[in-house]
Amino acid sequence: MARKLFVAGNWKMNTSAADAVELAKGLAAEIGAVDAVDLAVCPPSVYLSAVADALKGSNIAVGAQNMYCQDNGAFTGEISSAMVKDVGCKYVILGHSERRHVMGESDELINSKVLKALSDDLLPIFCIGELLEQREAGETDDVVHRQVTIGLEGVSRTDAQRITLAYEPVWAIGTGVTATPDQAQEVHAMLRELLGNIYDAELAQSMRIQYGGSVKGSNAAELLGQPDVDGALVGGASLKVEDFVGIVKAVI
Ligand code: PEP
Repeated sequence: MARKLFVAGNWKMNTSAADAVELAKGLAAEIGAVDAVDLAVCPPSVYLSAVADALKGSNIAVGAQNMYCQDNGAFTGEISSAMVKDVGCKYVILGHSERRHVMGESDELINSKVLKALSDDLLPIFCIGELLEQREAGETDDVVHRQVTIGLEGVSRTDAQRITLAYEPVWAIGTGVTATPDQAQEVHAMLRELLGNIYDAELAQSMRIQYGGSVKGSNAAELLGQPDVDGALVGGASLKVEDFVGIVKAVI
């Protein structure tokens, strides 16, 4: 089954309200009608509404960068899946390496967020990836195996079809050091095999697996040209219209 490429921008904790809307409008003008690739941007949560408004009528969807796993209540500073949906999001990034390694999120917490997002009709972009020391110690397979296995615990086959997996080696995020196309392909193929073991070969073949880590216009085509790389999760290069557009145009 042919998998449609999916390119998403993670704006992280960047932009002002005005910058966010300007960026969104600039993207809508340049690539808002693109149909060959699925597109999304994930602005800071406080700007989700404004960005969703700016992208209305375009083919660029909106995603949140995080959410909590409860409906409501005494969880100061958190946002729920219902809130994220309310302000126009289709996607939510879960398990990003900065959530794991800066905010200390566990595989188990990420799993509860994946389950909650799915039950509330959001499409998770579920991130996994190894640290540099883990790669150097030959532990990449074990690390991503554990992250995927725990992260997908209790996720039915039907719900799994709504997940995008994002392989983001931590040593490549925001560093300018990109995994080589071979390195990315090797891990993506292993992930597909793992998905086949957890679910079945058909599900494994249909799930999109994005690569993330210093993707830019000059390396996107080669990375996304790998047979098991189905798109990109883009950080730094999603903050300028011309950079993100360059990535999208390189792969359509
Ligand atoms: C990311 O934050 O998901 C990411 C891949 O960042 P960058 O593209 O800047 O490496």
